[in-house]
Amino acid sequence: MSVTGAGRNADLIVINGRVLTMDEGNPVAEAVAVKDGAIIAIGSGAAIEELKGPATEVIDAKGGSVLPGFIEAHMHLFSGGAELAHLQLGGVHGFEALQKAIRDYASIRPNAAMLVAQGVDYTVLGAERVTRHHLDAILPDRPFCMAAPDHHTMWANTRALEMAGILHGRALGPGNEIVMGDDGLAAGELREGEAFGPVLDLAGEGRVRLGLATGGEPDPMPSAAERAADRDIMRRGLAWCARHGITSIQNMDGNLYQLELLAEIEAEEGLPCRVQIPFHYKNFMTLDMLDKASAMAERYDSEWLSSGMVKVFYDGVLDSWTAVMVEPYADRPDWVGEPLFTPQQFIDLAVAVDKRGLQIAVHSIGDGAVRAVLDGYEAVQKANGKRDSRHRVEHIEVTTASDVPRFAELGVIASMQPPHPPGAMDFPLEPTVSRIGPARWPLSYAWRTLKNAGAHVVFASDWPVSPIDPILGIQAALLRKPWAESDPDQSFSLHESLAAYTVEGAYAEFAEHRKGTLKPGYLADLVVLSADIEKTAPADLHKLRPVTAICGGKVTYQA
Ligand SMILES: [Zn+2]
Repeated sequence: MSVTGAGRNADLIVINGRVLTMDEGNPVAEAVAVKDGAIIAIGSGAAIEELKGPATEVIDAKGGSVLPGFIEAHMHLFSGGAELAHLQLGGVHGFEALQKAIRDYASIRPNAAMLVAQGVDYTVLGAERVTRHHLDAILPDRPFCMAAPDHHTMWANTRALEMAGILHGRALGPGNEIVMGDDGLAAGELREGEAFGPVLDLAGEGRVRLGLATGGEPDPMPSAAERAADRDIMRRGLAWCARHGITSIQNMDGNLYQLELLAEIEAEEGLPCRVQIPFHYKNFMTLDMLDKASAMAERYDSEWLSSGMVKVFYDGVLDSWTAVMVEPYADRPDWVGEPLFTPQQFIDLAVAVDKRGLQIAVHSIGDGAVRAVLDGYEAVQKANGKRDSRHRVEHIEVTTASDVPRFAELGVIASMQPPHPPGAMDFPLEPTVSRIGPARWPLSYAWRTLKNAGAHVVFASDWPVSPIDPILGIQAALLRKPWAESDPDQSFSLHESLAAYTVEGAYAEFAEHRKGTLKPGYLADLVVLSADIEKTAPADLHKLRPVTAICGGKVTYQA
């Protein structure tokens, strides 16, 4: 055992734990002592008890696992917080069930300007594609829209399309589409943010979506009351993270407004989680607008609130054929998707961001997008020289054999989501596996292949796309099964999964010397589980619950 600040009483101790430190030099212990927001000692129960004074808070782990706080490497805090209040349609199948859920929700929200649902499967009506007519039959008089779990497609009824002014279609940027019906009117399916933005704006959540939709700032400036309401949405999201044992958030959309709201909460009562908010660069921006990214990075640079990252979307998603593929889609042989940037545009952007010393994270789902982004990172090293940049690729749902080794070669982080493979958790196999096609299955969601090739793999939920619970993500990673017997096993071990939610997450934010591991001198960010995770069968992992979350030495959640 080593003690820094010996002779001083701890502020808080956690005892009777099965402490998994994720520190290879000292992997297991029984207890942890914390003072002034940092870990001061890890060791046996008896040794830690010696640091207990009259004012020391004692947390009894009762034999449960004590882990480094989870680091969520890809999520959307503001929209997630807002969506906690929406109708949740995950697991709803068939017209009857859909009708009941929507009508029940409408009846308890008589005054909502727009009824919004989320999490509806692309195959909610089986093979039949959802149109506005289905939704009109359920709810003819009030505007209603519902989002697919991936948040890249929405469906709206006629009333909502009319009110949003898009019933007759509208010209949109590449990759976005208001699907039109044979009658010349919008069919109800809206692909990507520019298409469904006008509908969602009617829900009064325009400010929530800005960080994702445009990366811009609210205009007009929100009133004091609107700001207070927005802080409450953030608080709801933060509390949801804390109760799931999350202590650090790497957010994947953002603007200055989000940082300001979080700074206001920090000033009022302190933050329950550490948050990084990126600048979101869109394809209609010009490179001089990166000045704002640099300004955000300079202004917010604390352990609690930081920026320093530029988030980019290079493509869309497989289910709406908006992901960019090297070879055509298996179920659409004339189509490879449409990138949101040209390869050269992306290279110019990546070189400019890197030159500013900022980190880049790019949504790249199809293997064509993954390749173009890796090409961009390679061009960055040629232009600016090799540095410890830790640029990231987000999702990597499909990749190619020739691109797998490039992650390690270029020092690029693979940011992946165990809940996302079809069949792994909530997402059905179809239509995704047919879009990909069996030839590409072996390198789809290929965590194991990438890790074996030396890549740093970080795990996350992409909440609210998937449930935020890291324990569910760990379970999905352990239980991952190939879609065909001949496909390689992509599952992770328990220790590897934990590392992807802790140590690797810390590495992704250049913080491996301060967090992600339980070690004296490190930030006191930890989570206590309801039982011993190593003694829990993988199929039972979902029964484990965080009982105590501690961030910066303060209890942020207690069951
Ligand atoms: Zn995301």
